[in-house]
Amino acid sequence: MSELQDPSRDRLKHHFAQRVIHQARQVLEVWQRLQRSEWSEIGMSELSEASVRLLRYAERFDQAEHAQLAQSICNSLSAVGENRGRLNSQLIAQFNQTMQRLSRTGLRHGDHFEQTFLPPLRKPVYLALQDSDRAERLAQQLEFFGLSAQALANATAFKTAVGERHPAAIVMDVDFAGTGLELAHAAQQGLEHKIPVLFYSHNETDTPTRLAAVRAGGQEFFTGSLDASSLLERIEVLTHVVQYDPYKVLIVDDSKAQATHTERVLNSAGILTHTLTEPILAMDALAELQPDLIILDMYMPECNGTELAKVIRHNDRYVSVPIIYLSAEDDLDKQLDAMSEGGDDFLTKPIKPRHLIATVRNRAARARNLKARMVRDSLTGLYNHTHTLQLLDDACFRARRDGQPLAFAMLDIDHFKRVNDTYGHPMGDRVIKSLALFLKQRLRKSDYIGRYGGEEFAVVLPDTDERSALKVLDEIRQRFAEIHYPAQPQDLSCTFSGGIAMLQPGLDSRALSKQADEALYAAKHGGRNRVELYRSE
Ligand code: GH3
Ligand code: MG
Ligand code: MG
Repeated sequence: MSELQDPSRDRLKHHFAQRVIHQARQVLEVWQRLQRSEWSEIGMSELSEASVRLLRYAERFDQAEHAQLAQSICNSLSAVGENRGRLNSQLIAQFNQTMQRLSRTGLRHGDHFEQTFLPPLRKPVYLALQDSDRAERLAQQLEFFGLSAQALANATAFKTAVGERHPAAIVMDVDFAGTGLELAHAAQQGLEHKIPVLFYSHNETDTPTRLAAVRAGGQEFFTGSLDASSLLERIEVLTHVVQYDPYKVLIVDDSKAQATHTERVLNSAGILTHTLTEPILAMDALAELQPDLIILDMYMPECNGTELAKVIRHNDRYVSVPIIYLSAEDDLDKQLDAMSEGGDDFLTKPIKPRHLIATVRNRAARARNLKARMVRDSLTGLYNHTHTLQLLDDACFRARRDGQPLAFAMLDIDHFKRVNDTYGHPMGDRVIKSLALFLKQRLRKSDYIGRYGGEEFAVVLPDTDERSALKVLDEIRQRFAEIHYPAQPQDLSCTFSGGIAMLQPGLDSRALSKQADEALYAAKHGGRNRVELYRSE
Protein backbone atom coordinates (compact mmCIF):
# COMPACT_ATOMS: atom_id res chain seq x y z
CA MET A 1 0.00 0.00 0.00
CA SER A 2 1.44 3.36 -0.94
CA GLU A 3 1.67 6.09 1.63
CA LEU A 4 -1.06 8.13 -0.01
CA GLN A 5 -3.61 5.39 0.20
CA ASP A 6 -3.08 4.79 3.88
CA PRO A 7 -6.42 5.85 5.37
CA SER A 8 -5.08 6.59 8.84
CA ARG A 9 -2.52 8.94 7.36
CA ASP A 10 -5.25 10.70 5.44
CA ARG A 11 -7.29 11.06 8.57
CA LEU A 12 -4.36 12.49 10.42
CA LYS A 13 -3.67 14.96 7.66
CA HIS A 14 -7.31 15.90 7.70
CA HIS A 15 -7.24 16.38 11.44
CA PHE A 16 -4.25 18.73 11.31
CA ALA A 17 -5.69 20.63 8.41
CA GLN A 18 -8.80 21.23 10.53
CA ARG A 19 -6.65 22.83 13.20
CA VAL A 20 -5.16 25.20 10.70
CA ILE A 21 -8.61 26.04 9.38
CA HIS A 22 -9.82 26.63 12.90
CA GLN A 23 -6.99 29.06 13.54
CA ALA A 24 -7.69 30.77 10.23
CA ARG A 25 -11.20 31.36 11.48
CA GLN A 26 -9.88 32.93 14.65
CA VAL A 27 -7.92 35.37 12.54
CA LEU A 28 -10.99 36.17 10.48
CA GLU A 29 -13.05 36.73 13.59
CA VAL A 30 -10.59 39.24 14.99
CA TRP A 31 -10.58 40.92 11.60
CA GLN A 32 -14.34 41.13 11.59
CA ARG A 33 -14.39 42.68 15.04
CA LEU A 34 -11.91 45.28 13.86
CA GLN A 35 -14.21 46.13 10.96
CA ARG A 36 -16.94 47.12 13.36
CA SER A 37 -14.87 49.44 15.50
CA GLU A 38 -11.91 51.70 15.30
CA TRP A 39 -8.60 49.94 15.07
CA SER A 40 -7.32 50.10 18.60
CA GLU A 41 -3.89 48.96 19.63
CA ILE A 42 -5.45 46.04 21.48
CA GLY A 43 -7.23 44.92 18.36
CA MET A 44 -4.05 45.12 16.36
CA SER A 45 -2.11 43.03 18.82
CA GLU A 46 -4.89 40.46 18.90
CA LEU A 47 -4.72 40.23 15.14
CA SER A 48 -0.99 39.90 15.34
CA GLU A 49 -1.12 37.09 17.90
CA ALA A 50 -3.73 35.15 15.98
CA SER A 51 -1.78 35.49 12.73
CA VAL A 52 1.51 34.43 14.25
CA ARG A 53 -0.19 31.36 15.63
CA LEU A 54 -1.72 30.60 12.25
CA LEU A 55 1.69 30.91 10.65
CA ARG A 56 3.17 28.47 13.16
CA TYR A 57 0.42 25.87 12.69
CA ALA A 58 0.39 26.20 8.94
CA GLU A 59 4.13 25.67 8.75
CA ARG A 60 4.07 22.77 11.12
CA PHE A 61 1.22 21.03 9.32
CA ASP A 62 2.43 21.78 5.84
CA GLN A 63 -0.34 24.10 4.71
CA ALA A 64 1.52 26.27 2.25
CA GLU A 65 -1.33 28.56 1.28
CA HIS A 66 -2.29 29.33 4.85
CA ALA A 67 1.35 29.90 5.77
CA GLN A 68 1.73 32.36 2.94
CA LEU A 69 -1.43 34.26 3.88
CA ALA A 70 -0.48 34.39 7.56
CA GLN A 71 2.91 35.74 6.59
CA SER A 72 1.32 38.37 4.46
CA ILE A 73 -0.90 39.54 7.35
CA CYS A 74 2.17 39.75 9.57
CA ASN A 75 3.92 41.81 6.89
CA SER A 76 0.99 44.20 6.62
CA LEU A 77 0.96 44.57 10.39
CA SER A 78 4.64 45.48 10.37
CA ALA A 79 3.93 48.01 7.65
CA VAL A 80 1.30 49.60 9.90
CA GLY A 81 3.91 49.76 12.65
CA GLU A 82 6.35 51.47 10.31
CA ASN A 83 3.62 53.95 9.40
CA ARG A 84 3.50 55.04 13.06
CA GLY A 85 0.62 52.73 13.78
CA ARG A 86 -1.61 54.35 11.17
CA LEU A 87 -3.70 52.63 8.59
CA ASN A 88 -4.01 54.03 5.11
CA SER A 89 -6.05 52.99 2.09
CA GLN A 90 -3.25 50.96 0.61
CA LEU A 91 -2.80 48.96 3.79
CA ILE A 92 -6.53 48.47 4.27
CA ALA A 93 -6.79 47.14 0.72
CA GLN A 94 -3.83 44.85 1.35
CA PHE A 95 -5.36 43.46 4.55
CA ASN A 96 -8.68 43.03 2.90
CA GLN A 97 -7.27 41.13 -0.04
CA THR A 98 -5.46 38.73 2.23
CA MET A 99 -8.53 38.22 4.43
CA GLN A 100 -10.70 37.52 1.44
CA ARG A 101 -8.30 34.88 0.25
CA LEU A 102 -8.06 33.45 3.72
CA SER A 103 -11.82 33.24 4.05
CA ARG A 104 -11.95 31.32 0.79
CA THR A 105 -9.43 28.71 1.79
CA GLY A 106 -11.81 26.94 4.09
CA LEU A 107 -15.22 28.05 2.97
CA ARG A 108 -15.31 28.01 -0.75
CA HIS A 109 -16.27 25.18 -2.95
CA GLY A 110 -16.34 25.40 -6.68
CA ASP A 111 -13.23 26.45 -8.46
CA HIS A 112 -10.76 24.67 -6.22
CA PHE A 113 -13.07 21.82 -5.52
CA GLU A 114 -10.77 19.22 -7.01
CA GLN A 115 -7.70 20.35 -5.10
CA THR A 116 -9.11 20.80 -1.62
CA PHE A 117 -9.29 17.50 0.13
CA LEU A 118 -10.95 19.34 2.94
CA PRO A 119 -14.68 19.81 2.86
CA PRO A 120 -15.79 23.13 4.27
CA LEU A 121 -16.40 22.92 7.98
CA ARG A 122 -20.04 23.67 8.34
CA LYS A 123 -22.63 23.60 11.00
CA PRO A 124 -26.06 22.60 9.75
CA VAL A 125 -28.90 24.96 8.97
CA TYR A 126 -32.13 24.03 10.73
CA LEU A 127 -35.31 24.31 8.72
CA ALA A 128 -38.46 24.63 10.80
CA LEU A 129 -41.36 25.06 8.40
CA GLN A 130 -45.03 24.49 8.83
CA ASP A 131 -45.07 22.50 5.60
CA SER A 132 -42.71 19.67 6.43
CA ASP A 133 -42.59 18.26 2.89
CA ARG A 134 -41.42 21.57 1.72
CA ALA A 135 -38.80 21.72 4.44
CA GLU A 136 -37.51 18.32 3.35
CA ARG A 137 -37.32 19.39 -0.25
CA LEU A 138 -35.57 22.60 0.64
CA ALA A 139 -33.10 20.71 2.80
CA GLN A 140 -32.35 18.42 -0.10
CA GLN A 141 -31.76 21.31 -2.44
CA LEU A 142 -29.49 23.03 0.02
CA GLU A 143 -27.56 19.80 0.57
CA PHE A 144 -27.19 19.41 -3.13
CA PHE A 145 -25.39 22.72 -3.22
CA GLY A 146 -23.02 21.83 -0.46
CA LEU A 147 -24.78 23.21 2.58
CA SER A 148 -25.70 20.88 5.37
CA ALA A 149 -29.37 21.32 6.23
CA GLN A 150 -31.81 19.52 8.49
CA ALA A 151 -35.57 19.72 8.30
CA LEU A 152 -37.30 19.53 11.68
CA ALA A 153 -40.82 18.26 11.86
CA ASN A 154 -42.13 19.66 15.14
CA ALA A 155 -41.32 21.75 18.20
CA THR A 156 -39.82 18.84 20.12
CA ALA A 157 -37.53 17.90 17.27
CA PHE A 158 -36.48 21.52 17.00
CA LYS A 159 -35.71 21.86 20.71
CA THR A 160 -33.80 18.60 20.76
CA ALA A 161 -31.74 19.58 17.73
CA VAL A 162 -30.86 23.00 19.15
CA GLY A 163 -30.01 21.40 22.48
CA GLU A 164 -27.65 18.96 20.80
CA ARG A 165 -25.97 21.26 18.37
CA HIS A 166 -26.13 24.94 17.60
CA PRO A 167 -26.85 25.49 13.95
CA ALA A 168 -25.19 27.97 11.60
CA ALA A 169 -28.61 29.51 11.06
CA ILE A 170 -32.29 28.84 11.60
CA VAL A 171 -34.97 29.17 8.96
CA MET A 172 -38.18 29.49 10.92
CA ASP A 173 -41.78 29.70 9.81
CA VAL A 174 -43.46 32.24 12.10
CA ASP A 175 -46.33 29.77 12.39
CA PHE A 176 -44.13 26.74 12.99
CA ALA A 177 -45.94 24.50 15.46
CA GLY A 178 -48.02 27.57 16.29
CA THR A 179 -45.09 29.03 18.23
CA GLY A 180 -42.31 29.82 15.77
CA LEU A 181 -41.46 33.16 17.27
CA GLU A 182 -41.23 31.87 20.83
CA LEU A 183 -39.20 28.85 19.81
CA ALA A 184 -36.68 31.03 18.02
CA HIS A 185 -36.56 33.39 20.94
CA ALA A 186 -36.01 30.57 23.42
CA ALA A 187 -33.23 29.08 21.28
CA GLN A 188 -31.25 32.32 21.64
CA GLN A 189 -31.46 32.48 25.41
CA GLY A 190 -28.13 32.69 27.15
CA LEU A 191 -26.11 32.63 23.94
CA GLU A 192 -23.21 34.99 23.66
CA HIS A 193 -23.26 34.86 19.87
CA LYS A 194 -26.80 34.90 18.60
CA ILE A 195 -27.81 32.41 15.95
CA PRO A 196 -28.95 34.14 12.76
CA VAL A 197 -32.66 33.50 12.24
CA LEU A 198 -34.40 33.91 8.90
CA PHE A 199 -38.12 34.13 9.42
CA TYR A 200 -40.60 33.02 6.86
CA SER A 201 -44.29 33.52 6.48
CA HIS A 202 -46.41 32.12 3.72
CA ASN A 203 -48.72 35.11 3.87
CA GLU A 204 -47.95 38.79 4.10
CA THR A 205 -47.75 39.70 7.77
CA ASP A 206 -48.56 42.68 9.90
CA THR A 207 -46.08 44.99 11.52
CA PRO A 208 -46.49 43.59 15.07
CA THR A 209 -45.49 40.14 13.79
CA ARG A 210 -42.47 41.57 12.03
CA LEU A 211 -41.53 43.48 15.12
CA ALA A 212 -41.80 40.33 17.18
CA ALA A 213 -39.61 38.61 14.61
CA VAL A 214 -36.93 41.25 14.98
CA ARG A 215 -37.08 40.87 18.76
CA ALA A 216 -36.69 37.12 18.44
CA GLY A 217 -33.43 37.64 16.60
CA GLY A 218 -34.81 37.71 13.05
CA GLN A 219 -32.25 39.03 10.60
CA GLU A 220 -34.38 38.50 7.56
CA PHE A 221 -38.03 38.07 6.76
CA PHE A 222 -39.23 36.16 3.71
CA THR A 223 -42.77 36.01 2.50
CA GLY A 224 -44.45 34.20 -0.36
CA SER A 225 -42.42 31.46 -1.96
CA LEU A 226 -39.24 30.32 -0.34
CA ASP A 227 -36.64 29.28 -2.87
CA ALA A 228 -33.30 27.64 -2.23
CA SER A 229 -31.43 30.21 -4.26
CA SER A 230 -32.29 33.35 -2.33
CA LEU A 231 -32.24 31.42 0.92
CA LEU A 232 -28.75 30.16 0.22
CA GLU A 233 -27.55 33.61 -0.63
CA ARG A 234 -28.88 35.10 2.60
CA ILE A 235 -27.52 32.25 4.69
CA GLU A 236 -24.10 32.70 3.11
CA VAL A 237 -24.10 36.39 3.92
CA LEU A 238 -25.36 35.93 7.48
CA THR A 239 -23.02 33.12 8.38
CA HIS A 240 -19.91 34.36 6.66
CA VAL A 241 -17.13 35.01 9.01
CA VAL A 242 -16.00 37.99 7.04
CA GLN A 243 -17.74 41.01 5.80
CA TYR A 244 -15.97 41.17 2.52
CA ASP A 245 -15.41 44.60 1.14
CA PRO A 246 -14.50 47.60 3.21
CA TYR A 247 -16.54 50.70 2.45
CA LYS A 248 -15.08 53.02 -0.16
CA VAL A 249 -15.43 56.75 0.18
CA LEU A 250 -14.59 59.46 -2.32
CA ILE A 251 -13.61 62.75 -0.68
CA VAL A 252 -13.74 65.92 -2.76
CA ASP A 253 -12.14 68.85 -0.99
CA ASP A 254 -9.91 71.58 -2.34
CA SER A 255 -8.06 71.78 0.96
CA LYS A 256 -5.48 69.04 1.10
CA ALA A 257 -5.13 69.40 4.86
CA GLN A 258 -8.84 68.98 5.50
CA ALA A 259 -9.03 66.01 3.15
CA THR A 260 -6.07 64.33 4.82
CA HIS A 261 -7.72 64.74 8.18
CA THR A 262 -10.95 63.16 6.93
CA GLU A 263 -8.98 60.32 5.36
CA ARG A 264 -7.13 59.60 8.58
CA VAL A 265 -10.32 59.43 10.59
CA LEU A 266 -12.00 57.08 8.13
CA ASN A 267 -8.91 54.94 7.56
CA SER A 268 -8.61 54.44 11.30
CA ALA A 269 -11.93 52.61 11.09
CA GLY A 270 -10.88 50.45 8.16
CA ILE A 271 -12.71 52.52 5.56
CA LEU A 272 -11.00 52.99 2.19
CA THR A 273 -10.67 56.55 0.93
CA HIS A 274 -9.68 58.38 -2.18
CA THR A 275 -9.22 62.13 -2.23
CA LEU A 276 -9.70 64.59 -5.06
CA THR A 277 -8.68 68.18 -4.69
CA GLU A 278 -9.94 69.06 -8.16
CA PRO A 279 -13.69 68.57 -8.35
CA ILE A 280 -13.57 68.60 -12.14
CA LEU A 281 -12.06 65.10 -12.07
CA ALA A 282 -14.89 63.70 -9.95
CA MET A 283 -16.71 61.78 -12.69
CA ASP A 284 -13.60 59.86 -13.72
CA ALA A 285 -12.84 59.05 -10.12
CA LEU A 286 -16.40 57.82 -9.57
CA ALA A 287 -16.19 55.46 -12.53
CA GLU A 288 -12.87 54.14 -11.38
CA LEU A 289 -13.54 53.84 -7.67
CA GLN A 290 -17.27 53.05 -7.53
CA PRO A 291 -17.47 54.48 -4.03
CA ASP A 292 -20.18 53.59 -1.53
CA LEU A 293 -20.40 57.21 -0.46
CA ILE A 294 -19.17 60.68 -1.43
CA ILE A 295 -18.06 63.43 0.92
CA LEU A 296 -18.15 66.89 -0.61
CA ASP A 297 -16.74 70.15 0.57
CA MET A 298 -19.29 72.95 0.19
CA TYR A 299 -17.06 75.74 -1.04
CA MET A 300 -14.40 75.08 -3.62
CA PRO A 301 -12.95 77.59 -6.08
CA GLU A 302 -13.59 75.67 -9.30
CA CYS A 303 -17.14 74.61 -8.59
CA ASN A 304 -19.03 74.33 -5.34
CA GLY A 305 -20.31 71.20 -3.70
CA THR A 306 -23.95 71.60 -4.64
CA GLU A 307 -23.08 72.09 -8.30
CA LEU A 308 -20.98 68.98 -8.27
CA ALA A 309 -23.75 67.03 -6.53
CA LYS A 310 -26.11 67.96 -9.35
CA VAL A 311 -23.65 66.83 -11.99
CA ILE A 312 -23.19 63.53 -10.18
CA ARG A 313 -26.94 63.01 -9.88
CA HIS A 314 -27.37 63.56 -13.62
CA ASN A 315 -25.76 60.20 -14.19
CA ASP A 316 -28.21 57.34 -13.67
CA ARG A 317 -25.55 55.19 -12.14
CA TYR A 318 -24.99 57.52 -9.23
CA VAL A 319 -28.48 58.62 -8.30
CA SER A 320 -28.43 56.60 -5.12
CA VAL A 321 -24.85 57.03 -3.92
CA PRO A 322 -25.12 58.98 -0.65
CA ILE A 323 -23.59 62.43 -0.74
CA ILE A 324 -22.56 64.05 2.51
CA TYR A 325 -21.51 67.68 2.71
CA LEU A 326 -18.75 68.44 5.12
CA SER A 327 -18.35 72.11 5.71
CA ALA A 328 -17.82 74.86 8.22
CA GLU A 329 -21.11 76.40 7.08
CA ASP A 330 -23.38 76.61 10.08
CA ASP A 331 -26.20 78.64 8.59
CA LEU A 332 -29.11 76.22 8.76
CA ASP A 333 -30.89 77.72 5.75
CA LYS A 334 -27.85 77.28 3.58
CA GLN A 335 -27.49 73.73 4.83
CA LEU A 336 -31.08 72.96 3.92
CA ASP A 337 -30.59 74.46 0.46
CA ALA A 338 -27.58 72.26 -0.07
CA MET A 339 -29.51 69.17 0.98
CA SER A 340 -32.26 69.88 -1.51
CA GLU A 341 -29.62 69.84 -4.24
CA GLY A 342 -28.98 66.12 -4.15
CA GLY A 343 -27.21 65.86 -0.80
CA ASP A 344 -28.18 63.37 1.90
CA ASP A 345 -26.62 64.83 4.97
CA PHE A 346 -24.78 67.86 6.20
CA LEU A 347 -21.97 67.59 8.70
CA THR A 348 -20.45 70.69 10.24
CA LYS A 349 -16.73 71.01 10.85
CA PRO A 350 -15.16 70.34 13.22
CA ILE A 351 -16.79 66.98 13.56
CA LYS A 352 -16.04 64.30 16.15
CA PRO A 353 -14.32 61.30 14.54
CA ARG A 354 -16.86 58.88 16.00
CA HIS A 355 -19.72 60.88 14.59
CA LEU A 356 -18.16 60.95 11.13
CA ILE A 357 -17.38 57.22 11.17
CA ALA A 358 -20.86 56.27 12.33
CA THR A 359 -22.53 58.49 9.73
CA VAL A 360 -20.43 57.10 6.92
CA ARG A 361 -20.93 53.49 8.00
CA ASN A 362 -24.68 53.77 8.39
CA ARG A 363 -25.25 55.59 5.15
CA ALA A 364 -22.92 53.31 3.20
CA ALA A 365 -24.54 50.18 4.61
CA ARG A 366 -28.02 51.37 3.70
CA ALA A 367 -26.90 52.37 0.22
CA ARG A 368 -25.32 48.97 -0.38
CA ASN A 369 -28.45 47.24 0.73
CA LEU A 370 -30.60 49.38 -1.53
CA LYS A 371 -28.28 48.94 -4.47
CA ALA A 372 -28.28 45.18 -4.03
CA ARG A 373 -32.05 45.26 -4.44
CA MET A 374 -31.97 47.53 -7.46
CA VAL A 375 -29.45 45.67 -9.54
CA ARG A 376 -30.72 42.16 -9.00
CA ASP A 377 -33.21 40.02 -10.77
CA SER A 378 -35.95 38.98 -8.39
CA LEU A 379 -36.40 35.39 -9.54
CA THR A 380 -32.77 34.34 -9.32
CA GLY A 381 -31.00 36.98 -7.25
CA LEU A 382 -28.50 37.36 -10.10
CA TYR A 383 -27.60 40.74 -11.59
CA ASN A 384 -30.19 42.00 -14.02
CA HIS A 385 -29.52 42.74 -17.67
CA THR A 386 -28.67 46.42 -17.32
CA HIS A 387 -26.37 45.93 -14.40
CA THR A 388 -24.59 42.96 -15.99
CA LEU A 389 -23.70 45.16 -18.94
CA GLN A 390 -22.42 47.87 -16.61
CA LEU A 391 -20.29 45.33 -14.80
CA LEU A 392 -18.98 44.06 -18.12
CA ASP A 393 -18.10 47.62 -19.07
CA ASP A 394 -16.18 48.17 -15.82
CA ALA A 395 -14.47 44.81 -16.11
CA CYS A 396 -13.33 45.61 -19.68
CA PHE A 397 -11.91 48.90 -18.47
CA ARG A 398 -9.96 47.23 -15.68
CA ALA A 399 -8.74 44.35 -17.86
CA ARG A 400 -7.38 46.80 -20.41
CA ARG A 401 -5.74 48.95 -17.77
CA ASP A 402 -4.11 45.98 -16.02
CA GLY A 403 -3.29 44.07 -19.18
CA GLN A 404 -5.25 41.04 -17.96
CA PRO A 405 -7.38 38.70 -20.03
CA LEU A 406 -11.16 38.84 -19.74
CA ALA A 407 -13.73 36.33 -20.88
CA PHE A 408 -17.43 36.93 -21.40
CA ALA A 409 -19.88 34.08 -21.78
CA MET A 410 -23.52 33.82 -22.69
CA LEU A 411 -25.52 30.76 -21.76
CA ASP A 412 -28.96 29.70 -22.93
CA ILE A 413 -30.99 26.73 -21.77
CA ASP A 414 -31.73 24.27 -24.57
CA HIS A 415 -35.28 23.68 -25.76
CA PHE A 416 -36.65 25.51 -22.81
CA LYS A 417 -40.02 26.05 -24.42
CA ARG A 418 -40.56 22.31 -24.23
CA VAL A 419 -39.94 22.38 -20.49
CA ASN A 420 -42.65 24.95 -20.04
CA ASP A 421 -45.00 23.20 -22.43
CA THR A 422 -44.55 19.76 -20.91
CA TYR A 423 -44.08 20.49 -17.22
CA GLY A 424 -45.61 23.91 -16.77
CA HIS A 425 -44.24 27.35 -16.12
CA PRO A 426 -43.46 26.87 -12.39
CA MET A 427 -41.21 23.94 -13.27
CA GLY A 428 -39.51 26.15 -15.86
CA ASP A 429 -38.89 28.73 -13.15
CA ARG A 430 -37.35 26.09 -10.97
CA VAL A 431 -34.90 25.10 -13.66
CA ILE A 432 -33.92 28.73 -14.19
CA LYS A 433 -33.37 29.19 -10.47
CA SER A 434 -31.38 26.05 -10.16
CA LEU A 435 -29.04 27.03 -12.98
CA ALA A 436 -28.59 30.39 -11.28
CA LEU A 437 -27.72 28.68 -8.02
CA PHE A 438 -25.42 26.29 -9.81
CA LEU A 439 -23.48 29.12 -11.41
CA LYS A 440 -23.19 30.96 -8.10
CA GLN A 441 -21.80 27.90 -6.41
CA ARG A 442 -19.36 26.94 -9.09
CA LEU A 443 -17.90 30.23 -10.21
CA ARG A 444 -15.47 32.39 -8.29
CA LYS A 445 -16.60 35.26 -6.09
CA SER A 446 -14.80 37.61 -8.45
CA ASP A 447 -16.91 36.54 -11.43
CA TYR A 448 -20.13 38.37 -12.25
CA ILE A 449 -23.21 36.36 -13.07
CA GLY A 450 -26.26 37.94 -14.65
CA ARG A 451 -29.65 36.85 -15.81
CA TYR A 452 -29.56 38.28 -19.27
CA GLY A 453 -33.09 37.46 -20.29
CA GLY A 454 -35.71 34.74 -19.76
CA GLU A 455 -33.57 31.60 -19.83
CA GLU A 456 -30.38 33.35 -20.83
CA PHE A 457 -27.46 34.01 -18.55
CA ALA A 458 -24.29 36.04 -18.90
CA VAL A 459 -21.03 35.54 -17.06
CA VAL A 460 -18.12 37.96 -16.79
CA LEU A 461 -14.85 36.20 -15.96
CA PRO A 462 -12.05 38.64 -15.11
CA ASP A 463 -8.41 37.50 -15.26
CA THR A 464 -9.41 34.40 -17.15
CA ASP A 465 -7.83 33.15 -20.33
CA GLU A 466 -9.50 31.28 -23.13
CA ARG A 467 -8.55 27.83 -21.95
CA SER A 468 -9.68 28.27 -18.35
CA ALA A 469 -12.94 29.89 -19.38
CA LEU A 470 -13.73 27.03 -21.68
CA LYS A 471 -12.77 24.47 -19.06
CA VAL A 472 -14.79 26.00 -16.26
CA LEU A 473 -17.95 26.51 -18.31
CA ASP A 474 -17.76 23.15 -19.97
CA GLU A 475 -17.46 21.50 -16.59
CA ILE A 476 -20.50 23.39 -15.36
CA ARG A 477 -22.35 22.36 -18.50
CA GLN A 478 -21.60 18.69 -17.88
CA ARG A 479 -22.55 18.79 -14.22
CA PHE A 480 -25.73 20.73 -14.86
CA ALA A 481 -26.87 18.14 -17.38
CA GLU A 482 -26.61 15.51 -14.63
CA ILE A 483 -29.24 17.11 -12.41
CA HIS A 484 -32.57 15.33 -12.36
CA TYR A 485 -35.68 17.17 -11.33
CA PRO A 486 -38.33 14.90 -9.96
CA ALA A 487 -41.42 15.35 -12.14
CA GLN A 488 -44.34 13.66 -13.87
CA PRO A 489 -44.65 11.88 -16.29
CA GLN A 490 -40.92 11.38 -15.97
CA ASP A 491 -37.96 13.08 -14.34
CA LEU A 492 -36.67 16.10 -16.13
CA SER A 493 -33.12 17.06 -16.95
CA CYS A 494 -31.93 20.04 -18.93
CA THR A 495 -28.87 21.16 -20.83
CA PHE A 496 -27.58 24.54 -21.88
CA SER A 497 -25.42 25.90 -24.67
CA GLY A 498 -22.76 28.54 -24.19
CA GLY A 499 -20.73 31.00 -26.23
CA ILE A 500 -17.51 32.60 -25.03
CA ALA A 501 -15.69 35.65 -26.37
CA MET A 502 -12.36 37.05 -25.24
CA LEU A 503 -11.64 40.73 -24.85
CA GLN A 504 -9.30 41.85 -27.64
CA PRO A 505 -7.55 45.18 -28.16
CA GLY A 506 -9.87 47.63 -29.86
CA LEU A 507 -13.02 45.73 -28.83
CA ASP A 508 -15.62 47.46 -26.68
CA SER A 509 -18.01 45.69 -24.36
CA ARG A 510 -20.85 45.80 -26.87
CA ALA A 511 -18.80 44.16 -29.58
CA LEU A 512 -17.62 41.62 -27.03
CA SER A 513 -21.15 40.64 -26.06
CA LYS A 514 -22.09 40.42 -29.72
CA GLN A 515 -19.27 37.97 -30.30
CA ALA A 516 -20.33 35.87 -27.33
CA ASP A 517 -23.81 35.84 -28.77
CA GLU A 518 -22.48 34.64 -32.12
CA ALA A 519 -20.53 31.88 -30.40
CA LEU A 520 -23.69 30.89 -28.56
CA TYR A 521 -25.53 30.74 -31.85
CA ALA A 522 -22.80 28.49 -33.20
CA ALA A 523 -23.19 26.20 -30.19
CA LYS A 524 -26.95 25.98 -30.76
CA HIS A 525 -26.42 25.39 -34.43
CA GLY A 526 -23.82 22.73 -33.77
CA GLY A 527 -26.34 20.62 -31.88
CA ARG A 528 -26.74 22.31 -28.46
CA ASN A 529 -25.42 21.10 -25.08
CA ARG A 530 -21.95 22.46 -25.86
CA VAL A 531 -19.78 25.50 -25.25
CA GLU A 532 -18.16 27.31 -28.18
CA LEU A 533 -15.45 29.90 -28.34
CA TYR A 534 -15.88 32.83 -30.71
CA ARG A 535 -13.56 32.59 -33.68
CA SER A 536 -13.24 35.31 -36.28
CA GLU A 537 -13.20 33.79 -39.73
P1 GH3 B 1 -33.20 26.92 -27.81
O1 GH3 B 1 -32.57 25.62 -27.51
O2 GH3 B 1 -33.02 27.31 -29.24
O3 GH3 B 1 -32.71 27.98 -26.90
O4 GH3 B 1 -34.77 26.72 -27.60
P2 GH3 B 1 -35.68 27.43 -26.51
O5 GH3 B 1 -37.01 26.79 -26.53
O6 GH3 B 1 -34.98 27.41 -25.20
O7 GH3 B 1 -35.66 28.91 -27.04
P3 GH3 B 1 -36.66 30.12 -27.04
O8 GH3 B 1 -35.81 31.33 -26.82
O9 GH3 B 1 -37.45 30.09 -28.31
O10 GH3 B 1 -37.67 29.94 -25.85
C1 GH3 B 1 -37.39 30.39 -24.58
C2 GH3 B 1 -38.61 30.21 -23.74
O11 GH3 B 1 -38.33 30.50 -22.38
C3 GH3 B 1 -39.74 31.10 -24.13
C4 GH3 B 1 -40.31 31.61 -22.84
O12 GH3 B 1 -41.66 31.29 -22.71
C5 GH3 B 1 -39.54 30.90 -21.77
N1 GH3 B 1 -39.25 31.76 -20.65
C6 GH3 B 1 -38.67 32.97 -20.67
N2 GH3 B 1 -38.58 33.47 -19.42
C7 GH3 B 1 -39.11 32.56 -18.58
C8 GH3 B 1 -39.32 32.50 -17.18
O13 GH3 B 1 -38.96 33.41 -16.41
N3 GH3 B 1 -39.89 31.40 -16.66
C9 GH3 B 1 -40.27 30.38 -17.46
N4 GH3 B 1 -40.83 29.32 -16.89
N5 GH3 B 1 -40.13 30.41 -18.79
C10 GH3 B 1 -39.56 31.47 -19.36
MG1 MG C 1 -33.20 28.47 -24.94
MG1 MG D 1 -33.52 32.00 -25.53
